[in-house]
Amino acid sequence: MISQTERVRIKGWNGYQQGSYIEKQGYVYITETGTVYHKSYQCTHLKLAIRAGNVSDVADLRNEYQGKYYPCEKCKAKSASGMIYYTVSGDRYHASLGCSGLKRNIRAVKLSEVGGRGACSRCGR
Ligand SMILES: [Zn+2]
Ligand SMILES: [Zn+2]
Repeated sequence: MISQTERVRIKGWNGYQQGSYIEKQGYVYITETGTVYHKSYQCTHLKLAIRAGNVSDVADLRNEYQGKYYPCEKCKAKSASGMIYYTVSGDRYHASLGCSGLKRNIRAVKLSEVGGRGACSRCGR
């Protein structure tokens, strides 16, 4: 589950990013393997897919296979300072939530592009 601390961190990050990726109007969010779409990027179901953390903690992070995280080359995560993003099943961490390496896991799409996915029971009403 997402801790209160993490929520506060993510909220602060929202303001910093000024709606570039996560505040697109008219878009919903899907995961590659998910069967539902999400209206809210903040949906806790969606948050299960991507975690946010501090780069100073990355050495202690382990993915679900007990592997370490390595910096993503695409978003130059090696020189990241502050927030980083990763997935529990991945082996890379990212400096940008908009990185294509992460977008493989969560994508912002138009509602007309969700395919056979149904609305998330939590945020889709
Ligand atoms: Zn949802
Ligand atoms: Zn990346």
